[in-house]
This record gives sequence, C-alpha cells and structure tokens, in this order.
Amino acid sequence: MSAALLLDRLTLDADQILTGDAINEDYSHDECVNVAAVMPAVVLTPRSAEEVSQILTLANELGVAVTCRGAGTGLSGAAIPDTDGILLSLERMAAVIEIDEANHVAVVQPGVTLGELDEALAPYGLVYPILPGEESASLGGNVATNAGGMRAVKYGVTRHQVLGMEAVLPTGEIIRSGGKYVKFTTGYDLGQLIIGSEGTLAVVTEVTLKVVPRLAHKATLLAPFATLAEVTEAVPTILHAGLVPLMLEYVDAMAMSATSESLGLDLGMPAEIKEGALAYLLVVLESSDDDRLQADLERAGSIVGEAGAMDIYVLPAAAGAQVLEAREKAFWVAKEHGANDIIDVVVPRASIPEYLDTVGGLAAEHEAWVAGAGHAGDGNVHLSVFQGDAEKCSALMTAILAAGMELGGTISAEHGIGLAKRDYVRALEDPAKLALMRRIKQAFDPNGILNPGKIF
Ligand SMILES: Cc1cc2nc3c(=O)[nH]c(=O)nc-3n(C[C@H](O)[C@H](O)[C@H](O)COP(=O)(O)OP(=O)(O)OC[C@H]3O[C@@H](n4cnc5c(N)ncnc54)[C@H](O)[C@@H]3O)c2cc1C
Repeated sequence: MSAALLLDRLTLDADQILTGDAINEDYSHDECVNVAAVMPAVVLTPRSAEEVSQILTLANELGVAVTCRGAGTGLSGAAIPDTDGILLSLERMAAVIEIDEANHVAVVQPGVTLGELDEALAPYGLVYPILPGEESASLGGNVATNAGGMRAVKYGVTRHQVLGMEAVLPTGEIIRSGGKYVKFTTGYDLGQLIIGSEGTLAVVTEVTLKVVPRLAHKATLLAPFATLAEVTEAVPTILHAGLVPLMLEYVDAMAMSATSESLGLDLGMPAEIKEGALAYLLVVLESSDDDRLQADLERAGSIVGEAGAMDIYVLPAAAGAQVLEAREKAFWVAKEHGANDIIDVVVPRASIPEYLDTVGGLAAEHEAWVAGAGHAGDGNVHLSVFQGDAEKCSALMTAILAAGMELGGTISAEHGIGLAKRDYVRALEDPAKLALMRRIKQAFDPNGILNPGKIF
C-alpha cells in the first residue's frame, strides 16, 4: 500500500510532510558501504510521541511500511526505507528534556545527537559515557542499534546505560518501560528488548540515560608491538591490575599506516619501529586525580613493557586526541579506499589473535585484502574487506563470520544486521533463535509494518 494514501488523514503541518522532489537524497541511505540507496515515497518529521502514534496507527491500518531514521550514520543499511513506504525522521524530536543531577540521569528525545548531549552535560560536570565513533549519531539510533564503541571496556554498551524509555508500538499504543532507577523486575523488560531491535519493534520517543561524573584527567599510551598476540596478552594483565582503562584499542599496521597517511598524522616514531610493528595497543586512562592517573600510567607502561612492547609513547593531550580521532576515522579511510564490506565480529577477547590468523588465511585463499582495528578490551574486531568480485567477497564474508562464531563469537557486536548482514544471519544463525525472534516481531508488529525486511 502506498504511503501517499494516508497523507490526507494526518494532522501534521505541511512542513512535516515531504514528498517527491522535496525529499533530500540523504534520506535514501545510511553510511553502509554496500547497500543500495532507496528513495522513500514520503518523509514525515513528527514533533511528539502522539504524532508518531497517529502515523503508526494509520500506517498499521493501511499496511504501509514505516522506517525510522535518526542521523543516518548506521553501517548496516538498517535505516534504508521502502520505496512505497514512509521514512519517519526523528530529527524534530531533538530536545534534552532534563538533566537530573540528583539521580544522575539525562532524559532526551531520540533526535538528540551524541555531540549535543555531551555539550548539554558538560556544564554539570557529567558525561554520557558511551562513545560510538560518530558524534553526529542520534540517541534514538544508538538505542535501536545498541551502539557500543571505544569506551565499552569500561562502561559497557548502550543497553547498560539506558534506564528507561517511552516507545510507540507499531499498532499505535504509547508505552513506558523503566525509569530513573537501576532495579526493575516487574515482568519482562520490554525496553531492553527494544534496544538493539533496529527499529523493527517500536519507535523510541524518549530515553532515560544513566550519566556519570566527567573525570578531569586523561592520558593516552601508545605501544607498538611486533605481534598482535602480544597486544592481546597485555590486555587481561592491564585489567587484572585493576586499572579500569577507559579504552583499550588495537590498530593493525596496515590500518595505522593508511590512517596516518590520510590524516597527516606523525607521532615521531623511528622508522625501524614503524617497520617492525605489526600492531599497536592504545590505552586511555582517566581519573579524577592527576597523581593517581600518573601512577596508573606508570603501572600500565610497565605491564605493556613486560608484555613485549617495542617502545612506549605517553602522548601529550593533543597527540592523544589526534590518535583517537585517527582511530575513529578509520572507517572513513576504508570507505574512501573502496572497501567492499565491513566486519564487526566480536569474539572472546583472548581469541583475537587466533581469529585474525584465521581471517588472514581466508583472505589469502579468497584473493582479498583485509585490514583493521578493533576494541582489544572487548574482543570486537573491525575489518575492512577489499575484494571487488561480489561472489568471492560474499564467500569470504561467510567464512570470516562463521570463523568468528566457531570461536564463540557473533556476527555483529555493535553495527547491527540491517540489510547488509541479513543473508549471513539467515545462513549462519541458529534457526530456533531466528524463529523465536520472528514470533517476538509478530507480537509487537502483527502487520509487519515497522522496518520490514531488516534483520531476518
Ligand atoms: C565513522 C563512523 C564510526 C562509527 N563507529 C561506531 C562505533 O564505534 N560503534 C557503534 O556502535 N557504531 C558505530 N557507528 C555506527 C553508527 O554511528 C551507529 O549505528 C549509530 O547508533 C546510528 O545512529 P543514527 O542516529 O545514525 O541511526 P540511523 O542510521 O539513522 O538508524 C539506525 C537504526 O536505528 C533505527 N532508529 C533510528 N532512530 C530510531 C528511533 N527513534 N526508534 C526506533 N528505531 C530507530 C533505524 O530504523 C535503523 O534501524 C559508526 C558510524 C560511522 C559513520
């Protein structure tokens, strides 16, 4: 059923409804490297949960597909609309409703971006600690993808910071789940089910987030290693020492050199170290107290040294920020260089070297080039796959994802499935789990109008 049919029954203002040439091309895609853009029939920009409810009630009655969009920074094609459907953009629902210092929570509308929330929290000495690589991403999108990022080793992922939410069901009812408290055993936790559901179960219209004190002192340590195995061996020792790093990242030599070159980053590392290093460990520490930070830094340095680091660089604040920016921009560099696919597998962190060895072998076998970086502290491996032949690329992807699962990992740690990884999920995931997920989808969305075709 075409979305145009419900337009005259909506009570939205004219400027909340876009059709035809008025629809910007941006609404047709996210940042995924390999899913084709689709222009929606209609873009609607509601201002409230009640307007979302009205749209969904009518769409449900008429069987019109509805796809939510936050900021469109997703990496799996999950925000790509249906040709005949509605793109529901949450951009106008972008208010920070409340910063509650007594309860350490922020209540936000879904269109608020990570950057905007950070700005709003800074004057209160608070921070929302989850930092997926893209600050322009929206909190609604973060919730829908259960976004992770570099600070997961200390703060977990989005689901660990969401205390409650308001959401609109595909059938139009507005529900609330959780609130400004950490304990909750009143039946099923529906909010946690909606987190990570990629806009297939409900539209998130308000989120209550846990926030934490913004610690004043930070330091970044960069250590080149001759092997990746040494990098991952250092990780549990750092954690066992009770250092609680904010970030523990690895970057492989190819990704480091491509990113440094693209961003003009020069850390003054001697040529023999650059040539010999196969992997880099990045440790970011934070503290409310500078003396404690320096002591932690010294301890981390000696652990990293004992683990076999070729050298250790404690980076001045500006250089530390540059390296982290480079790490965050690794995706754009891969995209610019024409990556054919992106991998976001998570394995138990101690299995990263074994996994990457297997991946190296598979890449050679499939005549491909694979480079990457990842969250060494939590086992999340990000790889860019370069193999221009679609069939070979798909066979390689299947093998790489299956290898991660064999080690006890899973296909996506944080980017989600969307359209990009859907066929791999169908091929590799447990059919009993997929059948249960379909029954859950059916219970939330009996007519299948919300983001149809994604995940399954
Ligand atoms: C350079 C770069 C680096 C990145 N690094 C990371 C990273 O480190 N970790 C990480 O996890 N991700 C990362 N991402 C991916 C992306 O930023 C996240 O997936 C983010 O959560 C998407 O938010 P968004 O607002 O852009 O959502 P969109 O792309 O607009 O949408 C994503 C999904 O959320 C759904 N959705 C959006 N809003 C709502 C809502 N209100 N209710 C219900 N469903 C909704 C959409 O339908 C879609 O399924 C990165 C992306 C880029 C471009």
